[in-house]
Amino acid sequence: MKPIRKFTVRAVVPAPLAALEELAANLRWSWHEPARRLFEHIDPEAWARSGRDPVAFLGEVDPARLDELAADAGYVAWAEREREDLREYLTAPRWYQGHGADAPKAIAYFSPEFGITEALPQYSGGLGILAGDHLKAASDLGVPIVGVGLFYQAGYFAQSISADGWQQERYPVQDPDGLPLSVVRRPDGTPVDVVLALPDDRALCARVWRAEVGRVPLLLLDTDIPANDDDLRSVTDRLYGGGGEHRLLQELLLGIGGVRAVRAWTEIAGKPAPEVFHMNEGHAGFLGLERISELIGHGAPFDVALQYVRAGTVFTTHTPVPAGIDRFDRALVERYLTPMLLPGVDPADALALGVEPGADPAASAFNMAVMGLRLAQHANGVSKLHGEVSRRMFGALWPGFDADEVPITSVTNGVHAPTWTDPALRALAEQTLGTADTEHADWRSASLDDTELWAVKRRMRQHLVEDARRRLVAAWSDQHSGAPAPDWVHRVLDPDVLTVGFARRVPTYKRLTLMLQDPDRLRALLTHPERPVQFVVAGKSHPADDEGKRLIQQLVRFAQEPELRERIVFLPDYDMGMAATLYPGCDVWLNNPLRPLEACGTSGMKAAMNGALNLSILDGWWAEFAGDDYGWVIPSADQAGDAAERDALEAAALYDLLEHRIAPRYYERDGDGVPGEWVRMLRSTLSTLAPELGADRMVREYVERLYRHAARHVAAIVADEARGARDLAAFGARVRAAWPGVHVLHVESGGVESAHVGDELQLRASVDLGALDPDDVAVEVVYGRSRADDTLDAVRRSTLELVPDASVHGAAARVYAGSVVLDRAGAFGYTVRVIPKHPLLLSAAELGLVAVAD
Ligand SMILES: *Cc1c(COP(=O)(O)O)cnc(C)c1O
Repeated sequence: MKPIRKFTVRAVVPAPLAALEELAANLRWSWHEPARRLFEHIDPEAWARSGRDPVAFLGEVDPARLDELAADAGYVAWAEREREDLREYLTAPRWYQGHGADAPKAIAYFSPEFGITEALPQYSGGLGILAGDHLKAASDLGVPIVGVGLFYQAGYFAQSISADGWQQERYPVQDPDGLPLSVVRRPDGTPVDVVLALPDDRALCARVWRAEVGRVPLLLLDTDIPANDDDLRSVTDRLYGGGGEHRLLQELLLGIGGVRAVRAWTEIAGKPAPEVFHMNEGHAGFLGLERISELIGHGAPFDVALQYVRAGTVFTTHTPVPAGIDRFDRALVERYLTPMLLPGVDPADALALGVEPGADPAASAFNMAVMGLRLAQHANGVSKLHGEVSRRMFGALWPGFDADEVPITSVTNGVHAPTWTDPALRALAEQTLGTADTEHADWRSASLDDTELWAVKRRMRQHLVEDARRRLVAAWSDQHSGAPAPDWVHRVLDPDVLTVGFARRVPTYKRLTLMLQDPDRLRALLTHPERPVQFVVAGKSHPADDEGKRLIQQLVRFAQEPELRERIVFLPDYDMGMAATLYPGCDVWLNNPLRPLEACGTSGMKAAMNGALNLSILDGWWAEFAGDDYGWVIPSADQAGDAAERDALEAAALYDLLEHRIAPRYYERDGDGVPGEWVRMLRSTLSTLAPELGADRMVREYVERLYRHAARHVAAIVADEARGARDLAAFGARVRAAWPGVHVLHVESGGVESAHVGDELQLRASVDLGALDPDDVAVEVVYGRSRADDTLDAVRRSTLELVPDASVHGAAARVYAGSVVLDRAGAFGYTVRVIPKHPLLLSAAELGLVAVAD
């Protein structure tokens, strides 16, 4: 029988074990191994069954067992020690507390997904897990962040694979009462509900759940409450579910509702209001409009409010793939962006923010990333290469400037080491290297022998093999109406064979099936008599992406061939739980995206932290960090004639590397059966690569390069009753209006007959400033190495501000002068330009205005 309603009754834990409830309520257990061991000790089997989720586990464990432990003084003391450790973690000063008064007192971090633990499946892939790792590292560092997202009733989806290889999606509904979440309530106990006014006098309401991620609260908005009409209850049904209107409602809720939730929470909790708002991807862009509306409510005009909001907003773009950027039908957005929803905001002003550069404003799609960039004075991509790609991709927003001057920087992603490092490696470091801090241990030390390290690696591989068999046995029985799996399924994979992992979402650019380009070559690698290779593959395709599902099917079918099926497996339902066993179990982590479409990629970082070597196209993070000791580079065939040729060339390189370089090195053993050269690489990877890949490094960079900078900028702009914001808004309007009258009229040079290194080039430029004053602009000479295509080489280019020539009076044109020392031989070029100048502008390109000599 099917129950008509389901809910979760939380367990009552005996009073002496109250510490367990406190520990379960804070997600720090998800990265703090000692707390997990405390739970596991209660009942290891029930622990595994519950998916290692303390809240579910405490609901499931036999009450008699809890009573027994409540009477066990040793266990009670252990639990209390762990609780003490948590309290200390939550309150003691950490890295951030050493920062000065100009560091922001609070930062709000918005993302459409958060991957904290598999027990809270609110993520689809890299972006979510990155957001989770960001919050965890911020917690470890004591950074005062509050996370803001949505609570999706069914998360993303659970994947299974039919017998003929087709992806099936299930949407198991989560009961938030059974999760480590609590409702945000007012002091009188009533829940805080966020309300958004919709067209036709309707309203969208959302409950606010709070998860504790160590020191960091995460607020999640949930529309599945009785106050909503039935159709609106399902707004937060799934992550990246519907298109168009459904998605727009989710994003309005995330951005606008998210700010309202933060306001309510900070007030109730007595916390400082965020000074900095961090938008991750365009999805959360409406937060800027809500903040503008708030400021208009306090009397600011739109333009002034915009300056204020921009000063404190950081926008991070996470993908160069157009499908990853939300674009809405303009008419649809127009219908929703009413003064009821955003009091005081003229819909025309709001709509203008989403117009794509160069498009007809009346016909342009409403682009969330473009809006995000217009609402944020600070922007970044997520690896150096992705920064470059983003500067080109969004360059049209700053017309007239070369890509390298586009104000988008980069902060390379990182992964949270305590979450992603296998406990076996941590234990090994503790026993042999004298520290459990695997990131900073000296893995090259002689106090750890090769045999010991290799034995731990084998144990992790063995663990993966067992996990894969268990998953495949269960999947078989699922596919065959409960029939037991045949023997061979129990024998798949071998803990002594070179193991290559490939797991990620399945958009086309990640090329899941590149390895199948030449099936015979892959077969030969898998079945090599002395040096076999085995593959463990996993990944979910977006439910609407049949192309992705076809790729999975192709792979599954290949892996069904009787002579191959023990050497290549596809594991259904890739998630954080699988990932935790998969990365440590692999020797080689494969990544073969179409360069440069992988913005950063983080799975290879997690693999490296577990002593896997990377085999990857030079894209994302690997383009920055690749080294001979850390793995192998698959050369990109960027110059190939077409996509098919490119795939063929890159696949051939992949097979060659595996056959001639990787397998021989792996199977070359010394007397103890250890592959000496391999282990040397593994030690280098752990010692010198892994420490660069941590989320703590990433969060420190965000703090030091973006959050602090933003907070300082806000302070400058709000001082003196927001004089800075008013000045900047007035300046922008005046300069924009006058700009068509600004020209470089004439440039003279002298002082150099035939140029030699060390000579000075004297320059005089006469410019027409139209209605502007000399103080409004900078006149610059831009000079440096000139290239064959008549542009200036970005790397060898400098700028120098020219100074007004005071001896020239009265003329309509103004004269600016200066001199440049020719410090390098070779082709030299220069030009003169006029740009707006204001102390509160952060970059030359910020207003997108420039007048260049022609
Ligand atoms: C790390 C991770 C990802 C992201 O991997 P990429 O290499 O960035 O594609 C996706 N899913 C899970 C479960 C992960 O742990």
